[in-house]
Amino acid sequence: MTSDFETQLRAVSLRVTRPRLAVLAALRDHPHVDTDTVIALVRANHPTVSHQTVYDVLRALTDAGLVRRIQPAGATARYESRVGDNHHHVVCRSCGTIADVDCAVGDAPCLTASDDQGFVVDEAEVVYWGTCPGCATARTSQ
Ligand SMILES: [Zn+2]
Ligand SMILES: [Zn+2]
Repeated sequence: MTSDFETQLRAVSLRVTRPRLAVLAALRDHPHVDTDTVIALVRANHPTVSHQTVYDVLRALTDAGLVRRIQPAGATARYESRVGDNHHHVVCRSCGTIADVDCAVGDAPCLTASDDQGFVVDEAEVVYWGTCPGCATARTSQ
């Protein structure tokens, strides 16, 4: 039986290893987590996997395009396995929670520059900043 993750890894010519499968599973179940959280999630099920291995796996998967690295200004890098659809993120200024926002138009680039200065644009990065429902509730109930 071949899992989706094995198919994904083979499609980008990466060897199927237990740590790689574990990182992909962790990111599927917990999108937008930072490196420390990925390490904790992986090691909960696979205690023998080292921190360094998780770092290496995250880098390999990101380079191969299976994982997307998000780094909102002033925040630690987060990772997710929802790639290829150019969706955006909304970030809470108070607690740093990140949620997905579907692209307003569709395929990348979803923002057409009025003057691209001759550059070939293939991506437009949009980050929405605000206050998440949890923090908004906490603020009004104080
Ligand atoms: Zn919040
Ligand atoms: Zn996302």
